[in-house]
Amino acid sequence: MLLLTGSAIISCNNNYYSQSDFSNVPKIDAHYHLYTAEHGSLEMAKKNNFRLLGINTYSGDCEHVADVHQWSKKARENYPDNFEFTATFCLEGWGEAGWTENTAAWLEQCIADGAVAVKVWKNIGMEFRDKESNLIMIDDPGFDEIFLYLAKKGIPLTAHLGEPKNCWLPAEEMTVKNDSSYFTRNPRYHMFLHPELPSYEEQMAARDRMLQKNPDLSFIGCHLASLEWSVDELGLFLDRFPNASVDMAARMGQVFYQTAENRDKVRDFFIKYQDRILYGTDVIDRGGDSESFRQGVIRTWLRDWEFLVTDNKMQSDLINEEFRGLKLPKEAVDKIYYHNTKKWYKSFKSQRSDPLAQPI
Ligand SMILES: [Zn+2]
Repeated sequence: MLLLTGSAIISCNNNYYSQSDFSNVPKIDAHYHLYTAEHGSLEMAKKNNFRLLGINTYSGDCEHVADVHQWSKKARENYPDNFEFTATFCLEGWGEAGWTENTAAWLEQCIADGAVAVKVWKNIGMEFRDKESNLIMIDDPGFDEIFLYLAKKGIPLTAHLGEPKNCWLPAEEMTVKNDSSYFTRNPRYHMFLHPELPSYEEQMAARDRMLQKNPDLSFIGCHLASLEWSVDELGLFLDRFPNASVDMAARMGQVFYQTAENRDKVRDFFIKYQDRILYGTDVIDRGGDSESFRQGVIRTWLRDWEFLVTDNKMQSDLINEEFRGLKLPKEAVDKIYYHNTKKWYKSFKSQRSDPLAQPI
């Protein structure tokens, strides 16, 4: 009897990580932008037991897309156990003969070079227009062949579509400070200022229509699939689309905000959907390797670890309210930080000895 009680206590304690386990536990940052040929981020990640998934994004021009691809390919060659990357494509020549064929050939080359997924960005739906000056939405038939090709090849589509719901509010009404500062700095993406552009609901509906058209496409919704404002809505989305998962990149503020309001609800969500959530930050490394950059990244990684593994009382400069960490069980933590990215991106397979290999 005594022995039983004793082992129950041990297994209970073993069920959770502590703050100091941070560097012992293998982790993946599934949303990192390595926009440089330098490898400072990779060294920093290694020291902190992180692997990085580099996301290439068509947020500049085609040349930048090609540069990031070459840097990513090189990083993968130099850090085969610690780095994976996505491809992306640009929209120059959209609607002209050969765009689909050229884009498919480019993506095929990227995949041959090691890319594990293809990323699309919010400029689809918010910025790019066809020759008739209509906005190109993500369910546009012009993407059909590309997405069909990805589904057939088993290559996931990684998508930042729409924006946080806050984007349609005046800055002073936004719930988290990172949104009010980002949209104040980037007025062209602040949809409150552009009522002529599609509404939040229209952005989400276009994404859902695209997913309905492509039931076999594996989908990773960046930034909590722009449903960051409500774990209830996010749960409904994940229920509706079983081939979808989400990354948490740059939306911790909204998670903290909801946790301050109703911690049990947020914790239940993370436990229920523990197979569908990928940890990520949205860090952008443009080179230059500064100490303050490194400290900022590590601060973010440590803050998020504390939030997910402990029940400490916490404060963040992202919101005004105090909140408590979620203290998720180890099993959920390992999935969110590691197994889910391996599974959803079919990535990080080359590791000679998988530090978190599960017994068969
Ligand atoms: Zn990003």
